[in-house]
Formats: sequence, structure tokens, C-alpha cells
Amino acid sequence: MSDKSFQILIVEDEIKIAEILSDYLSQAGFSVSHKDRGDGVAALVKSTPPDLILLDVMLPGVDGLEVCKEIRKFSTVPIIMISARVEELDRLLGLELGADDYICKPFSPREVVARVKIVYRRQRPTPMEEPQTKLFSVDEDQGRITFKNSPIELTRTEFRLLSLLISRPGRIFTRDQLLDFCAQLDQQATDRVIDSHIKNLRKKLARIAPELEVIHAVYGVGYRFEISAKEKDI
Ligand code: CA
Repeated sequence: MSDKSFQILIVEDEIKIAEILSDYLSQAGFSVSHKDRGDGVAALVKSTPPDLILLDVMLPGVDGLEVCKEIRKFSTVPIIMISARVEELDRLLGLELGADDYICKPFSPREVVARVKIVYRRQRPTPMEEPQTKLFSVDEDQGRITFKNSPIELTRTEFRLLSLLISRPGRIFTRDQLLDFCAQLDQQATDRVIDSHIKNLRKKLARIAPELEVIHAVYGVGYRFEISAKEKDI
């Protein structure tokens, strides 16, 4: 895969990290530009809109949170926030900044490339992935989810979880958020219960669609729904 028309803006003050990201993303076939400060980024995005922004949180000038908020006033460009600590992720998610994804330092550049490719495919779907929403359909009234028109057998809690995840493809839900959502049904639910529901859901989904990976774990945070083919070069 190579698409030089896909412009990625890296906003990162640690030059080494910016260089590594830049190298990996260029090798993956994307066009990359770099800013090492937060101020001026929103104006740049306005004048030369990129297709994706990798945005570090701690930046000189204006910090990444502010930059993200400023950009969201006029643009829906995908933003992947990069933060130094995994504990910070929960806080960032709680702020509802409108970022599309979060990556924690230290990260592997391959992981970053994989996340970027997920966003890329969402922006520029290939014909195979286009009917993403049609693969799964949720019937709230009947409490039923179908895959390619065949119903998936789900418990009530599994239905709730999966329909929530499907309703916001790409969005990360923390375990706490999922727990709150399920607790309306099951007062005894704990983090571990969420993990075991997710595990069961994955098993069921793997049986009907072994070639697809749809529920992704986000390390230390939670889960998100995203359809990606397993054999793809992520
Ligand atoms: Ca930084």
C-alpha cells in the first residue's frame, strides 16, 4: 500500500521521535510533514489541511490538548493523540477532546503505523471494506445483531456491549465506560466481567467471521470496534 496523497502532520517536539515516526510513515507510503511546537498548528491545519494529525500532548507553545480543541472548532480531520503516560489516557478520553485515537509513549513505530492505516482505511475505504456498516446491522427493537443478514446469538449483555461498540466504530471505550453501560443490567459487573464478555463476543464473532478482526483491545484502556481483515498487512 502506498498513497503519497495522504498527508500526515506530526506535531512532536522530541526530534528523535518525530524522525522515527517520519521514517516509518514515509516507508509505509504516506507523505509526512512535521511541526515541533503547538502554536501555529491550528492555523497551519486551516491553511493546508492534512489528512491525519499525530499530536503529542506535551508541546512547547500551546499544548496538544488546546491544539486539538482549536482544530475541532473548524475541522473533523482525524487526530491521534500521543501521550507520555498510560494513566493520562483515561483522563484524555474523559475530556472528550474529539480525538480519534490515543497512543501511549513509549510506543513501537509499527504500532503507530498500524493505527494510522486503520484511520487511512476509514478515510479511503477499499471496495472490500466499504460495506463495513452493512456487514453488521443492529436491530435495537428486537435486541438482535446480524452479520451478513444472519443473526448472531448473543446474551443480553453481549448485545448491549456489541451494539454500543458498533454504534461508534473506531471510538475507544474504557472498561469503566463499558462497565457503567452494563451495570444497568448487571449490578455485579466488574472490569473482569467486561473482559470475559468481550472474550465471549470475540469467540462468537470468530466463529461466524474468522477472517475479520472487529473488537480491538487498546492496551491499558479498553476496547474499540473496527473491522479489519486479518490477512491485511497491518
Ligand atoms: Ca512532547
